[in-house]
Amino acid sequence: MVVLDGSVGEGGGQILRSALTLSAVTGRPFRMYNIRARRSRPGLLRQHLTAVHAAQAITSAEVDGDVLGSEELVFRPQAVRGGIYEFDVGSAGSATLVLQTVLVPLLLAAEASRVVCKGGTHNPAAPPFDFLAGVYLPILRWMGAQVTATLQRYGFYPRGGGRFTVEIQPLARWQRLSLTERGELQAVLARAVVADLPPQIAHRELQVVRDALGWREQDLVTEVLPPGQGPGNVLVLSMESEHVVEMVVGFGQRGVRAEEVARDACDRAKRYLAAGVPVGVHLADQLLLPLALAKGCFRTLTPSSHTETNRLVIEQFLDCRIRFETEGADNVLVIVE
Ligand code: ATP
Repeated sequence: MVVLDGSVGEGGGQILRSALTLSAVTGRPFRMYNIRARRSRPGLLRQHLTAVHAAQAITSAEVDGDVLGSEELVFRPQAVRGGIYEFDVGSAGSATLVLQTVLVPLLLAAEASRVVCKGGTHNPAAPPFDFLAGVYLPILRWMGAQVTATLQRYGFYPRGGGRFTVEIQPLARWQRLSLTERGELQAVLARAVVADLPPQIAHRELQVVRDALGWREQDLVTEVLPPGQGPGNVLVLSMESEHVVEMVVGFGQRGVRAEEVARDACDRAKRYLAAGVPVGVHLADQLLLPLALAKGCFRTLTPSSHTETNRLVIEQFLDCRIRFETEGADNVLVIVE
């Protein structure tokens, strides 16, 4: 049994989700203690518990410690079975993170799957649906996956209530990844989305994008959602290059001015654009696990503690060597052999 200390490195929910994914993929059971020990409310929150139950559902696992607040979990999986699944976080907790927990195992199942996920689709500190569908899944498709995602309803923090559906075909075989250049920047798009909030919020965010990044009028879009899906606001800065798409996202928050939300997002977009690398900071930590299975390499910004931590978890389950080679400022080659 793999034994993991959940407080190492980043010490958040990602260690647990990666362990669930890797356990499902390898069939190796694990025990984790100190779950989310570095967070202000340690232990399993709804999002993490839903991820545990999702991994349990697809692997018919035997599980101990799967209650809210639990800081210890034992997970003993059987073979992964594809099929029709529905996972509901039951709060605004991130449904995209739940999906990411089960997606790779379901790709490796013999049967196709349809997964409905309910909960938060646009949460601070988690991949928004746009990122899942527009950044993460295209790379997985490049790596051989046949997977599509459709958003039915937005779910913003704190209300939740979002819903999306993912269709997954069994993977024939992994395609080795070599994503070291991003090529020419081909298109940019800033989408400021508001739900049950004044459109002026979006206009103010786009004004900042205009000023800070110099993007053209036709690349700035305000999207007002039909009533009943908010309140919520998200600014998505999409940068499409020859070999990859990156999205930097700002989330509107009560008490934070729209200009501040947009300026922060623009700063992160500038960092990515200046570095010239294909893989952004969030995609890097999410891509490491599929890369460890498919093998290959990608070039990214200086790795975050999420990426560093994911490396530790992956090396506990898989017989692979993950190397980070620094080639310059914000220029690191990640190689898995
Ligand atoms: P906690 O940190 O409370 O345990 P958690 O389980 O939700 O919460 P983390 O362990 O911090 O979260 O993992 C968050 C994941 O969400 C990481 O993979 C990170 O890259 C991703 N993420 C965060 N913000 C963004 C963003 N703006 N775009 C894409 N991905 C994001």
